[in-house]
Amino acid sequence: MTDALSYVNENLAAIRENIAEAADKCGRRAEEIRIMAVTKTVAPETVNRAVELGVTLLGENRVQEFLSKQEAYDSSAEIHFIGHLQTNKVKYIIEPMTMIQSVDSIKLAQEINRLASAHNKVMDILCEVNIGGEESKSGIAPDSLAELIEAAASMENLRVRGLMTIPPPASGDIFLGRMEELFHKVRNSAGLSMDVLSMGMTHDYADAVKHGSTLVRIGTGLFGARDYSKK
Ligand SMILES: *Cc1c(COP(=O)(O)O)cnc(C)c1O
Repeated sequence: MTDALSYVNENLAAIRENIAEAADKCGRRAEEIRIMAVTKTVAPETVNRAVELGVTLLGENRVQEFLSKQEAYDSSAEIHFIGHLQTNKVKYIIEPMTMIQSVDSIKLAQEINRLASAHNKVMDILCEVNIGGEESKSGIAPDSLAELIEAAASMENLRVRGLMTIPPPASGDIFLGRMEELFHKVRNSAGLSMDVLSMGMTHDYADAVKHGSTLVRIGTGLFGARDYSKK
């Protein structure tokens, strides 16, 4: 490919290679790890290039931005919501999304359950954990996670698939390791068998793979630096 978007191809090839290498080092198979393309501030045609190249999953942070780009997306990709979600915005994403990764309160779980039920749908969710205990971040505290899982597991139109986290920046491996432990501890609780650990971004996805991640969320590593002036 020699066109203007060929960098997406090169970046994706490098990401796949890094994942394969990290997986190999710890006795995992690269196919166990799914690559999500995180689309914030990225033009739909650039996002669609990633889909053409075989990325099957897009990650959306902002409801408003998603609504403005939705129609232009290649409809073959699956879409998950990964941003902070207000209960009054759930109605806009309940139909087009197949998973909401950022559930961090019982109240939000209840609202997703209510709307999923109204749409005759069972929504896959992940519980977002604030593993670094950062004031500024969303996510549930590890101490309150069991309560959230139990509540969500009892809701008929939710399927609790696992955990998601954004560790503190430049924290090395510590929090990735804590998330791995936490995931193993809770994955079979409340009669569930969770299969998704969404962990790892551009700067730490290889380490996240070593700590059991099954889904890495990549933005800048795939599409280049974000230009917030455009969005
Ligand atoms: C932006 C974002 C990412 C991707 O971050 P990069 O560092 O650009 O790879 C992943 N997860 C969430 C929740 C994000 O908001």
